[in-house]
Amino acid sequence: MGAVVTQDEAAGLATQIAQTWRGLPAAAWEDDIVDLDAGTAGTVFVRLRRTLVRAPTIAQFRAEVQAATPRRDDDRPHCERCGSTGWADVVDLRADGTEHHVGCAPCRCPRGRDREAVHRAIVDHNAAELGRLFPSRTERGSVA
Ligand SMILES: [Zn+2]
Repeated sequence: MGAVVTQDEAAGLATQIAQTWRGLPAAAWEDDIVDLDAGTAGTVFVRLRRTLVRAPTIAQFRAEVQAATPRRDDDRPHCERCGSTGWADVVDLRADGTEHHVGCAPCRCPRGRDREAVHRAIVDHNAAELGRLFPSRTERGSVA
């Protein structure tokens, strides 16, 4: 269980969030994320930045952080692969032996199964967003 976000950390994270998804009011975010688990809030932000085209609402962000924050009464064994967050990095092993980080996905552990509904929602959201931004591409895809 990590420490709660400090006011300075909340301000820094809110600024990053506002810069990532333009037009968001950083001050409003700062006040609404200051009680969250610090490490988890940062991890969730980095993951959402990679996976979401459009900004999450403060409520969505809070729900994600709270879902990903390890609970004191969680007696499931600690998972090394995902650090018990339920989200694991997806690594592509190239022919030359180097590893390339290509995204993240729900882990194979019980906490990962908890994350699968969220992951599906993100994938569906991104697909809908791509369809909205590139309608001709989607039309061609449906004809083929
Ligand atoms: Zn795991």
